[in-house]
Amino acid sequence: MKKGRLFIISAPSGTGKSTVVADLLKRIPDLVYSISYTTRPPRKGEHDGKDYRFVDEMTFRRLVGEGFFAEWAQVHGALYGTPRVEIEDAVAAGKNVILDIDVQGGMALKHHYPKAVTIFLAPPSFEELKERLSGRKTDPEAVIAMRLENAEREMTFRDRYDYCVVNDDLKRACKEVSSIINPPKRV
Ligand code: ADP
Ligand code: 5GP
Repeated sequence: MKKGRLFIISAPSGTGKSTVVADLLKRIPDLVYSISYTTRPPRKGEHDGKDYRFVDEMTFRRLVGEGFFAEWAQVHGALYGTPRVEIEDAVAAGKNVILDIDVQGGMALKHHYPKAVTIFLAPPSFEELKERLSGRKTDPEAVIAMRLENAEREMTFRDRYDYCVVNDDLKRACKEVSSIINPPKRV
């Protein structure tokens, strides 16, 4: 059976990764989302087992010790990790898998799985990123400030990705990412 592929999408917080990924999952049949583990508390409207698997730090550290994660990292003060078996089983079953992970995780996975396709989603401007983070109304001011501070460093990784897509117009950006995953057939 033909193996599936890994598609890694990274971006500064607030750029629109979750929004773009949700759109892709609706429009691309058989695309599987890799549900990460995190020690971050759930936001309003997030569900365990759908957005993340929410665990405490002791559980997370135990899983790290068991080699459960393909990669893990500390991001904006919490721990996040990608379950190894889930992505490897999906790929072996011929499914394409999309991962929404940070730049440290993106680079680590590209190292382990060189065939993975990496996509950096960039905000149209720093001002717009600020607007989106506050407009989302999910994080306190201090958390927003830390995420904006980290954004500058994260942006320096964009050239290390296979593709960079600017999320200015949402519809256009989704189409662009979609055609990276499923390139239009030549006639
Ligand atoms: P991330 O997952 O990268 O942290 P989100 O997907 O949560 O970001 O998006 C952050 C906010 O920006 C949300 O309120 C979302 O609705 C909004 N947003 C996403 N993409 C766009 C866009 N292209 N134009 C305007 N607002 C957007
Ligand atoms: P958020 O808290 O906004 O959901 O995510 C914060 C950051 O953690 C984002 O950059 C997101 O891509 C990243 N992230 C989510 N899951 C993982 C993961 O499994 N591994 C790594 N390295 N980063 C992750």
